[in-house]
Amino acid sequence: MKIAICPGSFDPVTLGHLDIIERASELFDKVIVLVMSNSSKAGKTAFSVDERIELIKKCITKDNIEVDTYSGLLVNYAKEKGAVAVVKGLRAVSDFDYEFQQALINKSLNPNLETVFLPANGDNMFLSSSLVKEVCSLDGDISSYVPGEIVNDIYLRCKGDK
Ligand code: ADP
Repeated sequence: MKIAICPGSFDPVTLGHLDIIERASELFDKVIVLVMSNSSKAGKTAFSVDERIELIKKCITKDNIEVDTYSGLLVNYAKEKGAVAVVKGLRAVSDFDYEFQQALINKSLNPNLETVFLPANGDNMFLSSSLVKEVCSLDGDISSYVPGEIVNDIYLRCKGDK
């Protein structure tokens, strides 16, 4: 059984994330969407870890996708779960430097864990969680950027923040 991990902050999950997660679920037997609670964004997120997990769960329909959270090193989580790969989405060259550095440090910490990059879908190239929050807080329509199931949750949290 080949297990892959899709890690991130997912504050909140967007159609860009979901595209990568679903494509990963076609390539691997099981995908674990891992809400990392230790990132530089900790304490600055719009949604708590539990809320982010609930939002992701509302959007996921496939049986081979699970959602979990972790606050330690990704490579240790991967070892615990027997995962063989980390799957990341790449939007533009600007993502590359950071993602490549992460992939290399993870490879150095655990040579058995591969990082697989999937190119973002053309429609989602510009999409990020922070843009969704920004548009929402300024009363813009976010329904093309996140699944319908969670539009209202995001609207309730982010609208009028500014
Ligand atoms: P982080 O906190 O690590 O920046 P994010 O939650 O923003 O994590 O994103 C998690 C992963 O999803 C990253 O690999 C990122 O490149 C990818 N990603 C984010 N937005 C998109 C998008 N619009 N299309 C494809 N991949 C994306």
